[in-house]
Amino acid sequence: MTNVAAPAVDTHCPYCALQCGIRLSGARVEPREFPTNRGGLCQKGWTSGTLLTTAHRLTTPLVRVGGELVSASWDDALDLIARKLSALRAEHGPDSVAVFGGGGLTTEKCYLLGKFARVALGTSQIDYNGRFCMSSAAAAGTRAFGLDRGMPFPITDVTRADVVLLAGANPAETMPPFLQHVRNAANSGGLIVVDPRRTPTAEQATLHLQPRPGTDLALALGILHAVVADGHLRGDYVAERTTGFEAAWRIAAAWWPERVERVTGVAAADQRRAAALLADADRAVVLTGRGTEQHARGTDTVSAWINLALALGLPGVAGSGYGCLTGQGNGQGGREHGQKADQLPGYRRIDDPAARAHVAGVWGVDPDSLPGVGRSAYELLDALGTEGGPKALLVFGSNVVVSAPRAGHVADRLSALDLLVVADFVLSETARRADVVLPVTQWAEEDGTLTNLEGRILRRVKSVDPPDGVRSDLSVLRGLAVRLGQPAHRFPDDPDEVFAELRRASRGGPADYSGITPERLSAGEELFWPVPDEDHPGTPRMFLDSFAHPDGRARFVPVDHSGPAEPVDDEYPLIATTGRVLQHYQSGAQTRLVPELVDAVPEVHVEVHPDTAARAGLAEGAWARVVSRRGATRARVRLVASARQDTVFLPFHFPGAQRANLLTNPALDPTSRMPEFKVCAVRLEVMT
Ligand code: SF4
Repeated sequence: MTNVAAPAVDTHCPYCALQCGIRLSGARVEPREFPTNRGGLCQKGWTSGTLLTTAHRLTTPLVRVGGELVSASWDDALDLIARKLSALRAEHGPDSVAVFGGGGLTTEKCYLLGKFARVALGTSQIDYNGRFCMSSAAAAGTRAFGLDRGMPFPITDVTRADVVLLAGANPAETMPPFLQHVRNAANSGGLIVVDPRRTPTAEQATLHLQPRPGTDLALALGILHAVVADGHLRGDYVAERTTGFEAAWRIAAAWWPERVERVTGVAAADQRRAAALLADADRAVVLTGRGTEQHARGTDTVSAWINLALALGLPGVAGSGYGCLTGQGNGQGGREHGQKADQLPGYRRIDDPAARAHVAGVWGVDPDSLPGVGRSAYELLDALGTEGGPKALLVFGSNVVVSAPRAGHVADRLSALDLLVVADFVLSETARRADVVLPVTQWAEEDGTLTNLEGRILRRVKSVDPPDGVRSDLSVLRGLAVRLGQPAHRFPDDPDEVFAELRRASRGGPADYSGITPERLSAGEELFWPVPDEDHPGTPRMFLDSFAHPDGRARFVPVDHSGPAEPVDDEYPLIATTGRVLQHYQSGAQTRLVPELVDAVPEVHVEVHPDTAARAGLAEGAWARVVSRRGATRARVRLVASARQDTVFLPFHFPGAQRANLLTNPALDPTSRMPEFKVCAVRLEVMT
């Protein structure tokens, strides 16, 4: 049993990237002062202690025998996995085994998972669910600034901004304490929200721009056009700190606001008002979220918002800037240290010879033994069990059966594997399909570091003992690595030891953690990466003197509107978009264990405009069948008068026949390989 009588410990919420400060006494949660939450918590955070005593906890490995999952010893389970992996690798080569990680894992786990894949398995086939979450913003930030750190400034810069533009983000439901930071902007008439839905965040906006889904890029072009045409361009900044404006402007010049109004539905006057509000502010911040990024043109869409911010002279100026709102708890740290298909620790590229040599040196292996770039998350899942695709998959900290696009197809691909292994603390929907399930520790039962949405490194400390029978993910990786022939010392299972190695591996890389020590974190130092040595104070604000490109200048990227990958037609006349509700987090594997949260939102709903529902013969509370070209889901109708008549919305937290991702389109962004979660064509049917 979990020890719930432990002393109070200052730590952080297990869920989103705001990483609110909490005081945990056993399973009892209280908020505490921390810069991101300033004493606030959302309902998910308040109830997070329930996870520590859930009756659904796994405490023994499970192995599938005769179609059923039955209890097994750790040795038997790990021996079985290692035996099967070795046989597959011998027969089909190292890429026959794949690994899938998660943005909720601690940085130590992400790091060791990447090393395990490249060194113990020798596979290039590793990616993670952050590909579904942050990759378009990361790609756009890298090409504009030379380096991606979600928010390259502390959250207090948002707090003090007079004008904040939130594009495709709904923090009133996804991270409610964040709203404190836009209060100043809202109170001074400067909160602009771009969202096809009239969300609780949009309700608080000075100006709500409600574009048709999939047209945000055109809207950003229209506002950029208005900035230039109405005389707001910061020509001095553009000349001194950027390149590429002319090419970007050649495209935006053709997107005058009246033309943009016809495409997006956003009034030209509102586009001009947004431009003027941003231009007249002393301090202005542009922030993007998943609504901007989860498109087949998500990287270009984020680039369009960054172009706008550059034209206004915001990035790299203290108190202003562009940033993205990271979603998952360790979405930032998880995308820096090597669980991504193209990446080595320190935000290095795996196809960079110097990066390979450095990291191989830390790992004590030949650089030539490291594999190259692997498949991105959806491409990896799509290839499972196919000719030439992976035949085994190890999943850590992810529930792809619910969270991946075209989820029905992904479930079929999992069924085609020779071996599916899932490490989790409860029997998630993905774990139910596994051949072996490994019960692992959860947030408060282990030490570890995370990097929040500001690029601030946090220490989450162990505050309760795990139940008997449970092991840490680090211990699982070590146990498997040793069985696969690796020396035990190469795979430490102590988080501090792993972090010490990670510091060396990241040294000199873009995300340099080498100056961060557990002692500095425990002493309460506010450390934002890069921190290149132990005397370095960290980097709260990046790009103040220069951007990370060799010439020190930011790049305008010429991008144009082309619309969603899947247009509506007579058969599928509506646009479905997906997102979150306040009470649930990601696939719901954790929040669906918390009675208060389930009582509040027990099932999936579909938000529909009353006229649209009436045309489909649906009334409030009825069960609707929502059908796309990839599948159908059932959802309870919720009539929303502020909804666009051409758009329906479904939250994606629910399992089985209620999965919103049975509908979604896996069309991928060409740069980030992000799927188009936010737009797919559907029709509504009455359930019989
Ligand atoms: S879910 Fe996010 S916003 Fe809510 S308490 Fe946890 S960290 Fe804070």
